[in-house]
Amino acid sequence: MTPRWLFADQLGPHFLDAPGQEALLVESKAVFRRRAFHRQKAHLILSALRHRAQDDGVRLVRAETYAEAITQEVTVCHPTSRAARGLVTRLPRVVEMLPPRGFVTTPADFTAWARGRDHLRMEDFYRDARQRHGLLMNGDEPAGGKWNLDHDNREPPPRNATTLDVPEPPAVVEDEIDEQVRADLDRWEREDGITFVGRDGPRLFPATRHEALVRLRHFVTHRLTPFGPYEDAMLAGDPWMSHSMLSAPLNLGLLDPLEVVERAEEAYREGKAPLASVEGFVRQIVGWRDFIWHLYWYFEPGYRASNELRARKELPRWFAELDADAVEARCLSDVLAGVRDRGWVHHIPRLMVLGNYAMQRGWRPGAMADWFHRSFVDGYEWVMTANVIGMSQFADHGRMSSKPYASGGAYINRMSDYCGGCRYDPKVRVGDDACPYTAGYWAFLARNEQALAGNHRMRQPLNGLRRLADVEALVEQEKARGSRAP
Ligand code: SF4
Repeated sequence: MTPRWLFADQLGPHFLDAPGQEALLVESKAVFRRRAFHRQKAHLILSALRHRAQDDGVRLVRAETYAEAITQEVTVCHPTSRAARGLVTRLPRVVEMLPPRGFVTTPADFTAWARGRDHLRMEDFYRDARQRHGLLMNGDEPAGGKWNLDHDNREPPPRNATTLDVPEPPAVVEDEIDEQVRADLDRWEREDGITFVGRDGPRLFPATRHEALVRLRHFVTHRLTPFGPYEDAMLAGDPWMSHSMLSAPLNLGLLDPLEVVERAEEAYREGKAPLASVEGFVRQIVGWRDFIWHLYWYFEPGYRASNELRARKELPRWFAELDADAVEARCLSDVLAGVRDRGWVHHIPRLMVLGNYAMQRGWRPGAMADWFHRSFVDGYEWVMTANVIGMSQFADHGRMSSKPYASGGAYINRMSDYCGGCRYDPKVRVGDDACPYTAGYWAFLARNEQALAGNHRMRQPLNGLRRLADVEALVEQEKARGSRAP
């Protein structure tokens, strides 16, 4: 059997054709020269690669570039970026590129579903995928009779709670490979001028299949039940809430998403987890994750430069460099500190705190996509393109979302405990106490009134804007704030 070249995000057994197949891994320093990644992300990737290289039949080649490393004939599974696919097709020693693995649905599934549709909506794709793969189905009907159990989920955090009080995910124990990775990264910073963002810290995410399986089992047993109701809630004292934190090992290819959703479904069938929680989790993986993956390839390469709302400001330094201490707004400061210290916050801080703030201020969507890609342990180009350009920044003018995810402080106030301890007031839009999210929301609507006028889901907010007496003051206030940290 021809040896398989495995990229650093293809580390699980499902990227091989048989258990003993010879495999080749490449550790390229050039990757880290091109972008300033989060230090903990660089650590995780190198640790995962080097741990995988300990397995029988797997060889790790250290080289500046992939071209230098691939000196024997290899096969490879379809990689996860356009640049990597271009490279694979140019390298003469790659004898075959196999279809992509590591997702539940195939490109053919997606194309069959998408053909002829004007608007691509995750909900429709997700239902189609569940039917095709028989996931959470009772015959032709969705388990429980409904496709979407969101109304049972999306609860605010429990009143007066400072944490969700669910068992913590099992800690990762670092070993001598991690020690070596840390020493190498220190040296690269010192001697090779390679830079990172964020703080170093103990490795928090799985780097081996064993660690990933331990986390999966623990999540399904202890955290899946509260995941559903609290998947959108935020608490300053509980960064993980009941999230699975499996996105990093999934995106490293350590877990097969099908095994992950099958475990969750099994828990439901055995009466160990409620349907609403299991459905919410399956939706995140078979719905969002697969949908975003296919959109990366389905949309034209120029999609990443989409900028329908003409947002042209560059990211301010305090944001780009994760300077949480420069920020007084409690929600943004805490979330930025989470990115700085862990390289991870869950989907609502990403969307409603970070992305919402950037969209309100007119920051360039491509710069935000790149920032998310570099700063998050689970960030890859395919993950962040549609998620940030389309969903978070509404820069594609509705090709994948029906309205912008813009909201004022009221949403953050309802879904978190941030506002109580904040120097701003979520109900105030003008003046010293004005919440930057509330003020920013109205200023965003005022700036984009024309561009959003044809969107029927924006009719009500735009009518609200027209009733405000202080729009001019709001807009001036936002101009005066400029790119200063709030
Ligand atoms: Fe965030 Fe505004 Fe609430 Fe402060 S008042 S925590 S800035 S939403």
